[in-house]
Order: sequence, then C-alpha cells, then structure tokens
Amino acid sequence: MAGRFIEVEGLGKQYEAAAPGTPPALQGVTLAIGQGEFVAVMGPSGSGKSTFMNIVGLLDTPTAGAYRLNGKDVAGLSTDELAHVRNRVFGFVFQGFNLLKRISAAENVALPMVYSGTGGAERRRRAQELLAKVGLGAYGDALPARLSGGQQQRVAIARALANHPQLILADEPTGNLDTQTSNEIMDFLTSLNRETGVTILLVTHENDIAQYARRLIRFKDGRVVHDGPVTREPQPAAREKVAP
Ligand code: ADP
Repeated sequence: MAGRFIEVEGLGKQYEAAAPGTPPALQGVTLAIGQGEFVAVMGPSGSGKSTFMNIVGLLDTPTAGAYRLNGKDVAGLSTDELAHVRNRVFGFVFQGFNLLKRISAAENVALPMVYSGTGGAERRRRAQELLAKVGLGAYGDALPARLSGGQQQRVAIARALANHPQLILADEPTGNLDTQTSNEIMDFLTSLNRETGVTILLVTHENDIAQYARRLIRFKDGRVVHDGPVTREPQPAAREKVAP
C-alpha cells in the first residue's frame, strides 16, 4: 500500500484529561484516503470527528496506531518537518474563519507565505491572485469586519490555498453561514477539487453539505461505523427546500 496519500491503521486516542473509565475518543480507526478524494466526515457530537481531524492535520498525536502520510510514518517527523507539512502540505479552513482582525484580507491570505519564506512582492501578487480566484479581487484592502460571513470564509479558503496544499482540512466550514452562502462555498470547494485535484476532508453535521463530497465516513463512539460513496439524492431536489 506504499504511496497512498493518507493511511491510518488502528488509530486510537485516549485523552489524558479524560475522567477514569472514559472510553477512548478514537479507537481502531483504519482507513486510507487517496490524492484527489473529496471526503465528508459525519457523526454525532462527541463521536471523535475533531479528534480525527486534529490527528490527520498533525495538530495532535494519537495514543495508538499509525499514521502514514505519503508512505511516511508521521511519528518519525521532526518538529520542523511537522511545521513544514502543516504549513505547506495542508490548508485549514475553520467554522469561525479565524481571520486576523487588524490586517487586510490580502494580508490574511499572505500570512502562510510569510511563514514559508515567500518574498513580499510574490506574496502580494499571489494573495491578489487567490482573492480574485475566490471572487474577492476587489476586496484586498478590506478589513475582515467589513466583509460578510461568506466573504470572510472565502478569504479563509484563499489563505488555505496560499502554499498550494495537497489537502484541505475543513471543519464545519459552512457552520456559521446561511443556506445559499453555504451552497456557494461548497460549489467553490467542489470545483477546486475537480479542477486542481486537491484532496478535501470536510467535517459537517448537515446531510445537504455532505452531498457535495464523493465519499462519506461516519464516526460513532470513536469508531468508523460507515465508509462508502455518497449516494446522491435525485437532482436538483437535493439542494432545494421543497415546500410541504
Ligand atoms: P466530535 O468532534 O465528533 O464532537 P471530539 O473528537 O471532539 O468529537 O470528542 C470525542 C470525545 O473525546 C468526546 O467524548 C470528548 O468529550 C472527548 N474529548 C475531546 N477533546 C478532549 C480533550 N482535550 N480532553 C479530554 N477529552 C476530550
């Protein structure tokens, strides 16, 4: 199986802070995700979705099992290599956008390129290019507070794309957005996945949003209870609210 993009085997997580007798937050999770996949992660609150995402995103470490990225066990990576992967290989998109409030949209998008050592002129050029790509070419100088929620999430997506990531990790990216704006964001992520082949791993609790993915992984009590292709409802009913 060498060469699979993401492979986890027998992955487990027992938080130290958990009360005695608490079952592990994750147990026995074994799966692989190939380059270019678009995967939705679902499951009830407390089922282990965030724990799984944090481990895959190298923001936390498992207490059991193995995680190989591009065939390499991440347990063997140095602190510098971990930082490199988080900054260059992954792009993160969060429910709350997590933009810095005192700097412009363009400066927010450019931030990951500061950490990756890209020169100032190239940073500004690429930030502008990315903002145009997400439909915000005219908003480079705007502070986040001047933008709508959907626009802020677009800035966050542009920021996630700054260093040409192989994987976008999106944790409830539409959780704070209305239905139409959510669909616009999901349409954008879908075409990004199709056109650039970037792998997308998306946590959502909404079926309508999971419908955009091609594969669904469902967690319950820290285990994977379902893993298979997304079965699409007949179009276009899937995205329309039908009046009773
Ligand atoms: P989900 O994202 O599906 O809501 P989580 O991964 O956040 O689930 O949580 C899985 C389980 O781990 C829950 O029982 C939760 O209470 C527990 N948990 C999550 N984070 C921590 C932590 N930092 N310390 C102790 N327990 C945690």
